[in-house]
Amino acid sequence: MMTQKKFSTTQLIHSSYQAPDGFSAFPTAIHHASTVLFKDVAAMRARSWQDKSAYTYGLHGTPTSFTLEARLAEIEQGNYCLLAPSGLAAITLVNMALLQSGDDVLLPDNVYNPSRDQADWLASSFGVSVRYYDPLAGAAIADLIQPNTRLIWTEAPGSVSMEVSDIPAICAAAHARGVLVAMDNTWSGGIAFAAFEHGVDISMQALTKYQSGGSDVLMGAVITRDKDLNNRLQAAHMRLGFGVGMDDAYLVLRSLSTLKLRFDAHDASARKIASWLKTRPEMSKVLHPALEDCPGHAIWKRDFTGAGGLFSVLFDERYSEAQTDQFVNTLELFKIGFSWGGAHSLCVPYRIRQMRATWPHQGVLVRFNIGLEDADDLIADIGQALDRM
Ligand SMILES: *Cc1c(COP(=O)(O)O)cnc(C)c1O
Repeated sequence: MMTQKKFSTTQLIHSSYQAPDGFSAFPTAIHHASTVLFKDVAAMRARSWQDKSAYTYGLHGTPTSFTLEARLAEIEQGNYCLLAPSGLAAITLVNMALLQSGDDVLLPDNVYNPSRDQADWLASSFGVSVRYYDPLAGAAIADLIQPNTRLIWTEAPGSVSMEVSDIPAICAAAHARGVLVAMDNTWSGGIAFAAFEHGVDISMQALTKYQSGGSDVLMGAVITRDKDLNNRLQAAHMRLGFGVGMDDAYLVLRSLSTLKLRFDAHDASARKIASWLKTRPEMSKVLHPALEDCPGHAIWKRDFTGAGGLFSVLFDERYSEAQTDQFVNTLELFKIGFSWGGAHSLCVPYRIRQMRATWPHQGVLVRFNIGLEDADDLIADIGQALDRM
């Protein structure tokens, strides 16, 4: 009879097997970890969580998240990148790192609405002064800068109303007074606008959109060039506990290689559809930065190299909200839902007057996210919904 080695639960936990070295393949390995191991106590004590040449704890990163951070910084020609669990969390990271009670922050009136809501919360509960500026203010923003202004947020174009701000002019005015400029650069996917070249100090991205591309990941990034600025952000990142899941980091890494191809395909379809919508009598305005009558078009042309899949329309004022809601409901290929940058086309009506301090136009605003379907099929879908309206 064979003597069987006695089973031990310890064996389930400790194994001496090591996979052979020398494996090589394209995907970045998914390294999950809370605990990171040190070879001895001295190594543990010598290791600093700020130093990204080594590992201390899963919250601060594993080779998977370090790789994604490095690749995102490379794409935007930055030096540092911090990942956050959503685009909104990336905004939180910037605000918490750079603002304290008594400070003043300026945001564009067309800013991403949850960012506005967060700023209003900073004002109501944390003693931060929050003011909104006309996204087309350009150099005139200098008049709004106060001695306690610490940060100016920019977003170009605004992701619902599509005005394109003059980022270099805002940066010049800010820097003349020692004020930092953060940009929500989500619309450009980090590839159609070179934030740092145009003077921005902090480029924030919702990776949830184009970088993920799959409508299946929530993640954000904060990218910088300056080491001291990154140190301030990194301290807040630690204190806020903003870790990301490595499966999600992997999904974004997997999508990065097709980012430009997808972005360009969204862009080509969106321009075709926006131009077609301009010919329709139901529309009073098509808000797409590549169209000449979009506010800030000349700036877009000067500073951007592409446009992506997101744009809005204003229906003629003869249509009621009930009618435009029916239009959205009648669409078949376009689904109703927030976010963008995925393969599926989406359509959302916005009550823009409730979102803005000032809004000069009449008519209901409806936003399209053009996915990767055939543009002619999307045009046919919009056509049938307009005809039935
Ligand atoms: C989606 C979005 C965000 C937030 O990203 P989440 O990952 O959804 O939190 C921030 N800014 C803009 C412009 C966005 O479109």
